[in-house]
Amino acid sequence: MIYLDNNATTRIAPEVRAAMLPFLDEAYGNPSSQNALGQHAKAAVLAARQAIATSLGASPAEIIFTSGATEGNHAAITGAVGYFRGQRRQVVASAVEHPSTLKLLQALQQQGIEITLVPVDEHGMLDMAMLDAAISHETALVSVMWANNETGVVFPVEEIAQLAKQRGALFHTDAVQAIGRLPLTWRHSAIDLLSFSGHKLHAPKGIGGLLLRKGLNLPPLFHGSQERNRRGGTENVMAIAGLGAAATLLDSAHPPGLQQLRDRLERHITTALPGARINGGLSPRIANTSNIEFAGINGEALLLQLERAGVIASIGSACQSGGNRPSHVLSAMGMADEAAKSSLRFSLSRYTSADEIELASATILAAASRLAQQPVAQPVLSA
Ligand code: PMP
Repeated sequence: MIYLDNNATTRIAPEVRAAMLPFLDEAYGNPSSQNALGQHAKAAVLAARQAIATSLGASPAEIIFTSGATEGNHAAITGAVGYFRGQRRQVVASAVEHPSTLKLLQALQQQGIEITLVPVDEHGMLDMAMLDAAISHETALVSVMWANNETGVVFPVEEIAQLAKQRGALFHTDAVQAIGRLPLTWRHSAIDLLSFSGHKLHAPKGIGGLLLRKGLNLPPLFHGSQERNRRGGTENVMAIAGLGAAATLLDSAHPPGLQQLRDRLERHITTALPGARINGGLSPRIANTSNIEFAGINGEALLLQLERAGVIASIGSACQSGGNRPSHVLSAMGMADEAAKSSLRFSLSRYTSADEIELASATILAAASRLAQQPVAQPVLSA
């Protein structure tokens, strides 16, 4: 199997697995317990927190462990709205945020919060003039993702953080697809809140973190005494140990050759298939992601054929699959439904090899040429 769906989730690194195993067996203490087992668990949480802080250039106290980025996004957004106690009642975000953000914003809108979604252009880039115009003295929070999970397009989050700051608003970024792929030194950043997720970094699912600027006291999502009263709930010690190990691997996570591999895949496909087009290809992108429109070809049918041939890719994002709706990200880029449904995402990881890219390219080209011979309006296969 050639796994090119690393933006959906990644395999657990062997080093991460090894760091977690003791907590499945003898090291089952509760970090809040005074007994030796508890103290051992507490030390593991402390060590992981330190490793993550070192890797991201943050102070250990600025990290809150969460169950993942969905929780991190909720804690940041509802926390920021609560922080202003009704003094500021607007949230500004991009139209291409992850569903965990967009659906929360819809719910907040029902509760009377004003939501402004800023559009992107045909290249998937944020309209900075509209963003600038949208932020006002009513804005509690600007929440814009760092790198888009479907196209890989990178937004200028430091610049946006400055715009928010100038108007007294907080700035949050969903950095799920950026951590480990773009450099971050939190102590030099203007970002107030940043959420990330373990399972995109070769750590397990169900663990992540929220970086919270020192001195910023937001109302918590879960009340309780853990995480300095900022996130109640017994710590997921095993997963936290895994996340700590994954953080120490981050520097080597994306070898310099990764972008060459991604570019080689794109070159093979666009050279052989004149109808193929890279969505967001003219914008700055993270090095591992490629979103390709195979004009005139049914994306679901192509995805299925690829899977049968051992190449795993995806259509849209895993979090909203199941429906037959075109991707909200590609639609926001002005793509017609037909074109959006002809687009597949390929996302590489540090485990992707040059041989795999050669084989995957040949498999994709063979499947695409086969499907191109068939009429476009074939029955949609559900994968
Ligand atoms: N934001 C982005 C950009 C994502 O890609 C994902 C995962 N698909 C999430 C948030 C949600 O993360 P988690 O699965 O950890 O809740």
